[in-house]
Amino acid sequence: MNERTQRLLELDHAHVWHPFTPMKQWVNQQVPIIDRAEGEYLFDTEGNRYIDGVSSLWCNVHGHRVPEIDQAIRDQLDKVAHSTLLGLGSPPSIELAAMLAERAPGALNKVFYSDAGATAVEIAFKVAVGYWYHRGRPEKSAFIGFGGAYHGDTVGAMSVGYSDLFHRPFVSMVFRTHWAPSPDPARPPQPVVDRLKMEDADGQAKCPACGPEADCTQAVFPSQCPRLARALRDHCLDELEAMLQTHADHTAAIVIEPVMQGAAGMVCQPEGFVRGVGELARKYDVLLITDEVATGFGRTGPLFACEREVDESWHGPDIMALAKGISGGYLPLAATMFTDEVEGAFRGELRERKTFYHGHTYTGNALACAAAIASLELFDRNRVLDRVAANAAMIADHLEALKACPHVLDVRQRGIMVGIEICRDRDTREPFDFAKQVGARLCAAMRPHGLIVRPLGNVIILMPMPAMSPETLRRMLDIVVETINGWKYEHLEG
Ligand SMILES: *Cc1c(COP(=O)(O)O)cnc(C)c1O
Repeated sequence: MNERTQRLLELDHAHVWHPFTPMKQWVNQQVPIIDRAEGEYLFDTEGNRYIDGVSSLWCNVHGHRVPEIDQAIRDQLDKVAHSTLLGLGSPPSIELAAMLAERAPGALNKVFYSDAGATAVEIAFKVAVGYWYHRGRPEKSAFIGFGGAYHGDTVGAMSVGYSDLFHRPFVSMVFRTHWAPSPDPARPPQPVVDRLKMEDADGQAKCPACGPEADCTQAVFPSQCPRLARALRDHCLDELEAMLQTHADHTAAIVIEPVMQGAAGMVCQPEGFVRGVGELARKYDVLLITDEVATGFGRTGPLFACEREVDESWHGPDIMALAKGISGGYLPLAATMFTDEVEGAFRGELRERKTFYHGHTYTGNALACAAAIASLELFDRNRVLDRVAANAAMIADHLEALKACPHVLDVRQRGIMVGIEICRDRDTREPFDFAKQVGARLCAAMRPHGLIVRPLGNVIILMPMPAMSPETLRRMLDIVVETINGWKYEHLEG
């Protein structure tokens, strides 16, 4: 280890409190210190090169040091780095809002800026409650969230997120939320299992999803079984409807990570689920908030995940939260989008006191908006969504090889968002003990081969950047498959 790395590690251990990090263990680890980057690669202070397999935590889109985005930020820097949106306008924030409104699904047309996914979500929640308040329904102030949901780490976002591990010390701080079941193919609820008659005569599950039914696809991975998907969708929508019948009168909004729940371990929803939730929201007169902080900007295929489910029967979300990929992964920026209907509830005479008194100091930062504009232009110029489609197909193809490993319970994929769930035994679905840290160990084993990925518990998360080249993606997938299939799982026993 060189002197600079040594010194930086000592200072890091002395002063930096890392997010989501067990700090007692951290100080015994020698993690790479990332010094610079180039395209799809990160370089540490020792000169090692790694594929950035998590898009620098799900936000990088076109790679690092993209000439067009670098230039856009430099050009903006020569004008002004930041000016406030309180009482003033700024060209980048205006141009970006128009570009987002043009591309957003359904009737979303107004943009409120902030700086992080969590703040975008808090804004969505406050506007939802304010909307009903200004419409004379102040009792409609609760939320319906989905099991396993993650919306960020501020108090409001935590309240509609579901994690015993993350939230236990803070239960006294959060507001109460009604929980609807999320359709999770790897853990189907008993009524769904019963409905599908999963077990054959000897009480053994055959196909993990279907059992010996006629249209069983014999899917090895539960998330790939269409029959299970349909049964889960119908069950979860029925449960949601029952919940709305009881709670709609005092509920402001349903909040969903559409198509793919990210931090839950990449739990993908059956086709038509988002539309079904949207139709129920409309039927029971509650707003629908889609949190596309992770899924937005091409991750699941289309620019926004819920796009494919918008049609004549569903007009799209009333509110949508965006962050992560919005600036191409360059600068902290977030946007919450609204229909004119929702924003209109906050318009009135001054004496009516309808103004939305909310904002953050760096709201609509000019450098970040300039990066975001350049990123959206690159989506068009480089046909990034075509690249996503090709990359998604390559991922699905390569990961078929994981069927050979009896410790892979499920491979869940939507577009280029992937979760590979590891378990002790695929047939019994018995998990590895959390303390064995199997996900973290597998990811650590990939690092010497030049790949950085992160687990979520026992799920290995792959999040290649949407514009990743086929060559780099192939290399990344080879490392993942070889490591998982070649690992000596016996070492984890006993
Ligand atoms: C990451 C994430 C957030 C929080 O975003 P931050 O920028 O980390 O505050 C919110 N919602 C979803 C779905 C996310 O994946």
